[in-house]
Amino acid sequence: MTHALPQLPYDPNALEPVISAKTIEFHYGKHHQAYVNNLNKLLPGSPFESASLEDIIKKAEGGIFNNAAQVWNHTFYWESFSPKGGGEPKGKLMEAIEEAFGNFSRFKEEFSQAAATLFGSGWAWLVKNQDGKLEIVKESNAGNPMRNGKKPLLTCDVWEHAYYLDYQNRRPDYIESFWKLIDWEKVEKRM
Ligand code: MN
Repeated sequence: MTHALPQLPYDPNALEPVISAKTIEFHYGKHHQAYVNNLNKLLPGSPFESASLEDIIKKAEGGIFNNAAQVWNHTFYWESFSPKGGGEPKGKLMEAIEEAFGNFSRFKEEFSQAAATLFGSGWAWLVKNQDGKLEIVKESNAGNPMRNGKKPLLTCDVWEHAYYLDYQNRRPDYIESFWKLIDWEKVEKRM
């Protein structure tokens, strides 16, 4: 099975000024594409040749895991955004956030703090755990919470390549702007 780079659900300049077309050109067009290419080079002759990305993420190690997880994580990240995003979630997602974190602004603060303090490269995640409760987890490098039986709902890529062209070293500014793009209806559907 050959993996492909999925189409973005919006135009490359649609997320400006939060994420520029230049960042999309490199982050999606070069980095995300490179993980797809690397995975396709590593899979032939491995036990994961015809496995789904999710199965690879749950079971593989090393380069196959790293590239498969980076493919999945980036697709999930891009799909969380909408040019009309931002604001606050509604309905059962908002209820679950209030139950777990008290209120939406406390959740935003805790998630932003997790993303800002993640040392080095990685991903901050909002997940639903095995008890059906929401929690925030930090994963280094290609880490994905599905490996621990948790269901991803939202992620923030804090690898430098995600923000360096638009924000240079100012990761907290990137995280603050990130909230303006979130498609909360999409996040709720993932529950
Ligand atoms: Mn990335």
